[in-house]
Amino acid sequence: MSRVKKVITVLAKEIKKEDLKRFFEEIASDYTVIAPVRKGEDIVYAEVEIFDDVVLEYTTTITPVKKFLLPYKETMFSFEKEKIREKLPEENIALFGLHICDINAIARLDRVFWNDPYYRARRDNLLIVGITCKPSEKCFCKSVNAHILAPVCDVFLRAHGNGYQAVSFTETGRKKLNSFLFTQTQTEIREIKAEYEEGKHLDVHKVSENLLRNYENPVWEETAKKCLGCTNCTVVCPLCYCYDVVDNTHVKPEEGERVRCWDSCFLLNFARVAGGHNFRKDLKSRYRNVYTHKFRTFVDEFGVPACVGCGRCVTYCPAGIDMRETLTRVGGA
Ligand code: SF4
Ligand code: SF4
Repeated sequence: MSRVKKVITVLAKEIKKEDLKRFFEEIASDYTVIAPVRKGEDIVYAEVEIFDDVVLEYTTTITPVKKFLLPYKETMFSFEKEKIREKLPEENIALFGLHICDINAIARLDRVFWNDPYYRARRDNLLIVGITCKPSEKCFCKSVNAHILAPVCDVFLRAHGNGYQAVSFTETGRKKLNSFLFTQTQTEIREIKAEYEEGKHLDVHKVSENLLRNYENPVWEETAKKCLGCTNCTVVCPLCYCYDVVDNTHVKPEEGERVRCWDSCFLLNFARVAGGHNFRKDLKSRYRNVYTHKFRTFVDEFGVPACVGCGRCVTYCPAGIDMRETLTRVGGA
């Protein structure tokens, strides 16, 4: 697969903390900016017009950035008899203040959706500005090889002294760093990593190897008994991307539109096929499917798990299910 943007020389520059506002404003003059903001006690990604609304130090947001690349619901095209009208997204979006795990999630989504015209149109107009994260005890990006920044990031701001070291991995990012706000340093940075001690370390290679021979492990049944099938975990996951496609017709059946919307493999009807057969009728098989897809079949296809260890599924599961415990029981410890 070709990369989203050509990777060129890595530049290490510096920007003072007080100049970040002007950098934000430079970006906001060309892009709709999406950044982490406070909403009650939580942090969410939302459109931001004023820099002071941006939260620079946070652990994780509730919702992932997938919603800006794969919206919850989108019209793919409308039709009227034989006429089809397709409208590709044109908006320039800047994702400002993303952590390494979320940027790596975009890199993994690229592997799946690179040839999807709607995703690609958004991706081609996207600017990614990353920032140093503040890991929590629920983070496990190291376990899933998502702690090293993927070179899809245009500009990364690494906290350093009273400001940030700024590194660019793409041509678009390099142009942004040409702003007078940045000064050149002699520091050469070849790799950006999340630096922290993981609360629970897992061996994701062992998980991949062991998953299929643990098909009848009691952990699936036991956890399924606690699971509510609510889909919270798949909604907040930056790498759960199941979707459904529906043709909505108007009064005249030959007019309407084709709509794509989020779905979840946790839902009963997800694996129901023509004739009424359902491949995953019980919650146990749906729960197990989430793991076999994320940690085995996705790895077989793309070489990495469909998980970046952001910990959202752990934080937002109302039944208190911790993915790391399930993975440990199927041989990941
Ligand atoms: S499975 Fe959980 S930890 Fe992994 S990326 Fe999804 S939400 Fe984050
Ligand atoms: S969030 Fe928890 S309870 Fe809800 S479907 Fe996921 S694992 Fe089950």
